[in-house]
Amino acid sequence: MVIAHTLGFPRIGARRELKWALEEYWSGSIDAAALQAAARELRRRHWDLQRHAGLDLITAGDFSLYDHVLDMSALLGAVPARLGAGDGEVDLDTYFRMARGRAPRGGDAAACAMTKWFDTNYHYIVPELHAGQRFRLARREIFGEVADAVSQGHRAKAALVGPLTYLWLSRVRDGRKLDLLPELVRAYREILQGLAAAGAEWVQLDEPILALELPPAWLDAFESAYHRLRPYPLKVLVATYFGALAENTSAALTLPVDGVHVDLVRAPAQLDVVLDRINDTKVLSLGLIDGRNVWRTDLDQALILARRARARLGDRVWIAPSCSLLHVPVDVAAEQALDPELRAWLAFATQKLHEIAILRTALTEGEARVGGLLAEARTLRRQRLTSRAIFDAEVRARERAITPAMCARSQPHRVRSQLQQARLRLPLLPTTTIGSFPQTAALRRARRDHREGRIDAASYRERLRAEIAQVIRAQEDFGLDVLVHGEPERGDMVEYFGEHLQGVAVTANGWVQSYGSRCVRPPIIYGDVRRPRSITVEWTRYAQSLTLRPVKGMLTGPVTLLQWSYARDDAPAEEICMQLALAVRDEVMDLEAAGTPVIQIDEPALREGLPLRRRDRAPYLRLAARAFGLCAGGVGAGTQIHTHMCYSEFQDILATIREMDADVVTIEAARSGDGLLPGLREAGLANGIGPGVYDIHTPRQPSEEEIMQRARRLLEILPVGQLWLNPDCGLKTRRWEEIEAPLRRLVNCARRLRATCHVPGRRRAAGA
Ligand code: GLN
Ligand code: ZN
Repeated sequence: MVIAHTLGFPRIGARRELKWALEEYWSGSIDAAALQAAARELRRRHWDLQRHAGLDLITAGDFSLYDHVLDMSALLGAVPARLGAGDGEVDLDTYFRMARGRAPRGGDAAACAMTKWFDTNYHYIVPELHAGQRFRLARREIFGEVADAVSQGHRAKAALVGPLTYLWLSRVRDGRKLDLLPELVRAYREILQGLAAAGAEWVQLDEPILALELPPAWLDAFESAYHRLRPYPLKVLVATYFGALAENTSAALTLPVDGVHVDLVRAPAQLDVVLDRINDTKVLSLGLIDGRNVWRTDLDQALILARRARARLGDRVWIAPSCSLLHVPVDVAAEQALDPELRAWLAFATQKLHEIAILRTALTEGEARVGGLLAEARTLRRQRLTSRAIFDAEVRARERAITPAMCARSQPHRVRSQLQQARLRLPLLPTTTIGSFPQTAALRRARRDHREGRIDAASYRERLRAEIAQVIRAQEDFGLDVLVHGEPERGDMVEYFGEHLQGVAVTANGWVQSYGSRCVRPPIIYGDVRRPRSITVEWTRYAQSLTLRPVKGMLTGPVTLLQWSYARDDAPAEEICMQLALAVRDEVMDLEAAGTPVIQIDEPALREGLPLRRRDRAPYLRLAARAFGLCAGGVGAGTQIHTHMCYSEFQDILATIREMDADVVTIEAARSGDGLLPGLREAGLANGIGPGVYDIHTPRQPSEEEIMQRARRLLEILPVGQLWLNPDCGLKTRRWEEIEAPLRRLVNCARRLRATCHVPGRRRAAGA
């Protein structure tokens, strides 16, 4: 039988029910039982959605109270010693302490690291393992979930991170990851037994690393691990996604399992090779519905692939989304405020379940059975691709007229820095921040009141101006050199620009989990992008009117705008990126015309957007540098361009940083220890560099000596004339009480250091 299924469903809830329940539990206003009840209700609701849409197998185990990789660590009893590894069950509070460092009951501890799940914006909790690690089944949630699904009358498939992917994503202290594999496989065998006993028919083991370039030892490990997992107590589907299997195709298809899932959205061309190599007992699950984007599927196109597979494999074909639907919002029906034309083009997770079922029915019972639905999908898709709303002739013409000269500053950095110094008269070791200041509850409330019409535009504007005035006063008081307006008008650095660009829409409820209870609403880029009018000039100009110190204009760069949005699928990423860059360039030019002496173009997503496979990286990085160049290339030499990037592991992009040719680059480095520093020296960058001197991601406040030590270490590596002192990221997630002392200490360090260093041509010991 051709089976329709999903690899996973969003767990957060259409109205972010999970977020609210978690936050109530963390604050102590509900107990664990109430949290678990809310979670069970969400799971059951999502299973019902799958069932009612017509899916044959429902998926359990895709739910998580925080993160599915953390669930795996808890299930395996892989708890770091500082968080109370013992022989008992991993209880709920230990689980949350691993993720957040704290929980309602028990002491605090440093949380486990968190990082991006492949090339998505979802973050997972990095498993912390050590040489000789033992695994034991220590948190049995998943068995209860499967049993609950079965008790609800569903045919259940359990979804888990596969053993190789789990190991690959972990950090192993004092040992090699693969040495832990035999012990891990032993634990997985026990898990599979438990799942079978709970009533699961299938288990889906997610092995997305099969879409990466893998060392030969890992490919061998796949084979041996899956052999050692046998005999299976239930049927096993190995799920691959986020790219083509490429050179791993044979390894994946010869695994001794009952089925393999392949991503045919990112890699439709792999279908033929896969069909040639799959043996005649395995099921092939076709990932035909895009789990990473929000457009209605081209069902005709999907059916062509599905039919080709069915002709070869008969009923051993399954229909599925490309990956878990975790990465898209829950339901388009919640977007009543969206333009109806655009809304009709969209498919969120709930709609995608229906698309899966439609495809299965068309495939097995003939197109006529779902003829109306197919026709509707066809019409809407055609309407989108020919709609006037997505086409802007002027933008297209501007895009064609982009020249290499437009993508570069007219003077080299050496010349620019002199002009800028003459204008800004900054002291040695200038101090600045990354842009945002604390987003207080009052500020968030004002934004919500404005959006929902409870306060009018004029009073909202006054509210923001008051906030800006306070932020400027505070920075003068702290003694910072290059000030910012504090970004009070932005809830989110991408969504805010999305709201102001033509060709981009924002949603009201399109929440997607970023990590734990934190969600984002990625904008939807549906057409040619244009900036109809200036966006930030008013705020920046107002901030500058309040101070004699330079105020830095603050913009989000094109790569980040693209990376953190859903992009149209009818234009190449390169074109979308360059259109975004044109819009940012317009804003940069307006800021300059308004007298803004320093403009920062943030590209925090640049590093994480790096394609998964090495061969795709060079074109991506070239585009990133060209797009940034286009944003900044129009300004005069005396305007100082900054950029800011998040996350460690800069080695891969140092050459790109050089190519971007910003006058100053600030980077998040405090958390990555000293790993970045040697690379920085070797890269021989000539521009100003501000590797954050303290970590703003924790409420912990650094002492002056810690900041001083950090600065001194940086001075051993970078010439004193190049170093900037700044925190490592924006301050929006901190409270005012948490930022004041560190910023004063940072300024103090700068003053103390200035008194001991001197570079000709710089004002000495300013403000000291
Ligand atoms: N300017 C932004 C801020 O300060 C940068 C945020 C980021 O790097 N993610 O909030
Ligand atoms: Zn940052």
